[in-house]
Amino acid sequence: MDLARTDLYLDGHWVTASSRKTLEVHNPTTEEVVATVPAGSAADVDRAVAAARAAFDGWAATAPADRAARLDRLHAALTARADEIARTVALELGTPLKVATRVQAGLPLTVLRGYVDLAGHPPAPETVGNSLVVREPVGVVGAITPWNYPLHQVVAKLAPALAAGCTVVLKPSELTPLTAYLLFDAIDEAGFPPGVVNLVPGTGPVVGEAVAAHPDVDMVSFTGSTATGRRIAHLAADRIARVALELGGKSANVILDDADLATAVKVGVGNAFLNSGQTCTAWTRMLVHRDRYDEALALAAKAAAGYRLGDPFDPATRLGPLVSAAQRERVRDHVARGLADGGRLVAGGPDAPLPERGWFVAPTVIADVDPDSALAQEEVFGPVLAVIPVDDDEHAVAVANNSRYGLAGAVWSGDEERALAVARRMRTGAVDVNGAPFNPLAPFGGYKQSGLGRELGTYGLEEFLQTKAIQR
Ligand code: NAD
Repeated sequence: MDLARTDLYLDGHWVTASSRKTLEVHNPTTEEVVATVPAGSAADVDRAVAAARAAFDGWAATAPADRAARLDRLHAALTARADEIARTVALELGTPLKVATRVQAGLPLTVLRGYVDLAGHPPAPETVGNSLVVREPVGVVGAITPWNYPLHQVVAKLAPALAAGCTVVLKPSELTPLTAYLLFDAIDEAGFPPGVVNLVPGTGPVVGEAVAAHPDVDMVSFTGSTATGRRIAHLAADRIARVALELGGKSANVILDDADLATAVKVGVGNAFLNSGQTCTAWTRMLVHRDRYDEALALAAKAAAGYRLGDPFDPATRLGPLVSAAQRERVRDHVARGLADGGRLVAGGPDAPLPERGWFVAPTVIADVDPDSALAQEEVFGPVLAVIPVDDDEHAVAVANNSRYGLAGAVWSGDEERALAVARRMRTGAVDVNGAPFNPLAPFGGYKQSGLGRELGTYGLEEFLQTKAIQR
């Protein structure tokens, strides 16, 4: 199978990139190159933004029911590719196929379905005194996305932007562009008007910067690291363009003394290790009441031992590789530093056995982590769980909030009121009580350096709307 892609998607067509430069896509399990894609240029971004600008007035004026019908066709075209998407994510990212099918392919379909419905029912104009308050699409959106959930991160921007009446230029991650190509095959099949959705693959410093700095891009919607988000906000600030930033996290899983410990630890470890720990919302700090601490560590070690590393296409595999050699090195360094800073190894670690090939890191649990140390403060983005003892609810809240991030979190207690009281005091964008399921219609986004704005559901749609007051 030849997975190489040679074109960009501009103005409703697959077209040749302006340069012959290409980027290699690797399989992190075998470390081999599996495909190449074009390395887009600033000139390609200019072409894409011009197409999106030209398409904007028409798409903004399209009746909501028509926009919903196009998104519905896209949903059908993506659904037909769901297996291929799951396999492609397993190939280029390393997510075990079972998880890739459920999360990497399944979740974006659910999110897109929600926006088919919302596109057909835009917010109604509101009367405020003598004013008519109307909502209008913000304009041309530059979407820049990461590799860890390569379809979901794109759909969480593209679907609400299109539903709102915006046009879009997408720059997907250079590490996982093949999934974005499958999305654009589906977009092509669904038949959007030319210029409404455009794809320019390439690197961050070249294509990403060109998108973020482009004078005709009205809004930049970014998901990725806090460092890149800061750079994008600077670029957008020069022209006062709107930004939405979904950034890093270091989320706390607070386990109180009356919790169902076996469930709390098992689910907590699973959350921290999902997608090999390459999940922005991962509960990477487990805060356990001192009275239950040793018991929790034993349970965590047992749970970690159950994570079999291997080929994502092998049904027995529970943990795939990390996305790149560089990512593996970063994670190894974090583990070494965590141990040097006084952490106690409970599972995994530098000497644990690994498959011969592939960018793997063993599922690792480190106890007695100092809440101020690097391992408790920095995003690792690998299968590494830091466990910290806490004295009581007050102390748990203080340690949970001792972070420059605030993206997600969890609380476990036999007393739901007690759990809710702790959840309310956590300075973070989302908290799950006692393992409550992810809600794809709930607002998603960060406090503090985890970002600006909210994605998903009606909150995600709002991001792409302007507000106009007409007095009469
Ligand atoms: P990254 O910031 O390195 O890259 C994200 C995207 O930005 C990529 O497409 C990249 O090419 C582009 N980029 C890089 N430099 C750029 C620049 N100077 N100008 C414009 N674009 C640039 O992040 P990553 O390594 O791909 O993803 C991992 C990070 O993303 C983690 O920190 C993780 O927490 C975060 N993340 C956050 C969320 C969320 O919703 N909050 C979701 C997933 C990932």
